[in-house]
Amino acid sequence: DLHSEAERRRQIEEDLRDALANDQMYLAYQPIVDTKTNQVVSLETLARWHHPELGEISPAVFIPIAEEANLIGALGDWVLKRACEEARHWPGGVRIAVNVSAAQFGNAGFATVVAQALAHSELPPERLELELTESVFLGDSAATTDMFNQLKLLGVRLALDDFGTGYSSLSYLQHAPFDKIKIDKSFIRGVTEEGNRNAAIISAIVSLANALKMDTTAEGIEAHDELNAMRQLGVSQIQGYIYA
Ligand code: MG
Ligand code: MG
Repeated sequence: DLHSEAERRRQIEEDLRDALANDQMYLAYQPIVDTKTNQVVSLETLARWHHPELGEISPAVFIPIAEEANLIGALGDWVLKRACEEARHWPGGVRIAVNVSAAQFGNAGFATVVAQALAHSELPPERLELELTESVFLGDSAATTDMFNQLKLLGVRLALDDFGTGYSSLSYLQHAPFDKIKIDKSFIRGVTEEGNRNAAIISAIVSLANALKMDTTAEGIEAHDELNAMRQLGVSQIQGYIYA
């Protein structure tokens, strides 16, 4: 079993190198909806892979392989470029949210990659939102600060993704110029059940974000009671299967 699993990973890694070049990758989008206006304000970009023989391969499979095989930078850059091109033609100023890996963010040329994607697509920078996880703070702090400054100079928006699941150190919020905090879906499950602590935690995150003039997005909303709870807790945006 171990051998065949290793063989499968090796095959996927090899095919992933070709997939980017051969247009087997494509993008799917999940809407993010404003809780007050019920309008779609942005869409999060999700990378998808249709393998010619194996069919759809889940990102849960190919993203870790891409990370180990040092392909995550190339994959991330392709997603960014393609997303900007596709979003350029969307109506109504809807934003596009793109996930950025720590490996991409740690590349000194990343701001140039973003600038080129914007220039090439002619997408206004304020319509691009980069989603970063706390893992970006594990690198060299001077370089991290410098990259934040370069990205803000470009005029793009920055979101802190999956908040609450990593180290969740509040020291990041002292300086990093985020426009939004995304509350991880692990805080949503059970939120309406009696005795569950998630509502208190979400309420605290919303207060913190409001005081720092940041938006909040609750991720992974699936049920109406969860949606209502998020509205009552003052979360500004909703994302999840309840919409799409
Ligand atoms: Mg994300
Ligand atoms: Mg997320």
